[in-house]
Amino acid sequence: MTDTASSQFSGEGVLNAHSRAEALAAMAAEELDILVIGGGIVGAGCALDAATRGLNVGVVEAQDWAAGTSSRSSKLVHGGIRYLEQLDFHLVQEALTERGLLLQQLAPHLVKPIRFLYPVEHRIWERAYVGAGMLLYDIFSYAGGRRPGVGHHRHLSKRQIGLAAPSLKSSGIIGGMSYYDGRVDDARYVVNLVRTAVANGAHAANRTEVIGFLQKKGQVVGVTVRDLETGKEFPIRAKQVINSTGVWTGTTQELVHDGGTLRVRASKGIHIVVPRDRFKSVMGLLLRTEKSVLFVIPWGRHWIIGTTDTDWHYDKAHPSATATDIQYVLDHVNAVLDDPITHDDIEGVYVGLRPLLAGDSESTTKLSREHVVVKPKPGLVLIAGGKWTTYRVMANDAVDAAVEELNTLAGEGSIPASVTASVPLLGAAGYKASWNRRTRTAARAGLPKSVVEHLLN
Ligand SMILES: Cc1cc2nc3c(=O)[nH]c(=O)nc-3n(C[C@H](O)[C@H](O)[C@H](O)COP(=O)(O)OP(=O)(O)OC[C@H]3O[C@@H](n4cnc5c(N)ncnc54)[C@H](O)[C@@H]3O)c2cc1C
Repeated sequence: MTDTASSQFSGEGVLNAHSRAEALAAMAAEELDILVIGGGIVGAGCALDAATRGLNVGVVEAQDWAAGTSSRSSKLVHGGIRYLEQLDFHLVQEALTERGLLLQQLAPHLVKPIRFLYPVEHRIWERAYVGAGMLLYDIFSYAGGRRPGVGHHRHLSKRQIGLAAPSLKSSGIIGGMSYYDGRVDDARYVVNLVRTAVANGAHAANRTEVIGFLQKKGQVVGVTVRDLETGKEFPIRAKQVINSTGVWTGTTQELVHDGGTLRVRASKGIHIVVPRDRFKSVMGLLLRTEKSVLFVIPWGRHWIIGTTDTDWHYDKAHPSATATDIQYVLDHVNAVLDDPITHDDIEGVYVGLRPLLAGDSESTTKLSREHVVVKPKPGLVLIAGGKWTTYRVMANDAVDAAVEELNTLAGEGSIPASVTASVPLLGAAGYKASWNRRTRTAARAGLPKSVVEHLLN
């Protein structure tokens, strides 16, 4: 590709070998305002947040974009209905506000509504208890001042459940409820987010590992990276460094030596993938377990079923599922199925590590129950915890912390506040109109409507 062609495309957020080489060269040559470490959902979100404030930002990822936790989630953009039971209302409201924003404005082409069924076994108290929770969930979904973008919950009779999900056991279940959340291809979204950041001027390089920090008079002034394609090591200078390395937070903190203030625990969650015909249902399923909840999520021609929650102390890049993990998932889903799913039905298993906060230090700024931002020393911001759904809020908080110092250097108030609530991702512009035109587009192109829908999404 010629330079002219490449720079023309980088405005469109293209990620390829050429754009990567250009990004690395730019990051090596100039002092950045902010360098973001980690290309998961949080790091990609930070890059877009900073770039759209007009800052000169770079983001480096050791593996591939989203190769860490952000491609191994349950793929739900959700408020987390189970947090209601823990009375964590602020968190649920915050996440539901984000859900509405992503579904309707920022990424309607990537985030889709999904309907879940919750089967009920006890006639009065369970229906009343779960129904009240779902009503609250619906009410909270208006918290952002906009419509939720999904339908409200509904009570279903035993007959309606039988029609909607014929694979469910008829004995024991006396009826149920349905409610809505959002669903996303988590890895694809992260790549799209990085592309959107690049389209807004960010420099982005994957396969680029931070192996050390540059420090001057007790202040972090950049990092040393290793290009894993060439083995070349070089410095990247930056006025602020944001570390968003999820379960690797401890490892990157060790590179700063005296910058270790955040303790992040890796909690393993597995999902199994089974063919769609192994569970006949027009809706996903939410089941209560003794520890938490289990989801059965429609995914193309498959169902994704999970998840679990156990500690993980081994290689963070390669977490693996045990026979016990898989049996746990099978036992819980089979408890409600007429025809049990067996090991032979399992076509795939994937495993992720939740970055859970294990304790805060005195210098921690607790911004919400779920994530924290820490400034252990000048020039360095650490962000960890949280969930995929609230990445935009996390990025906003982390960049705010970096901007606080940048503003002190450059004069109060000179850097604008976050604008990502009104920056749609690449592909969102024109999507709704194209979607509304899909029947005519299909007829004109001589394609089945389902193919046009697939391509639009
Ligand atoms: C099983 C499971 C299910 C989940 N389901 C959901 C869900 O349905 N909805 C939801 O909202 N949340 C969910 N979550 C939580 C969510 O997935 C995580 O909170 C989120 O993905 C974490 O993103 P992150 O960017 O912080 O971390 P990561 O995605 O892990 O990104 C960190 C990145 O940093 C990189 N890195 C590390 N060290 C370096 C270095 N030295 N140099 C450069 N790069 C480095 C890593 O390679 C990695 O890609 C789930 C989590 C799990 C485990």
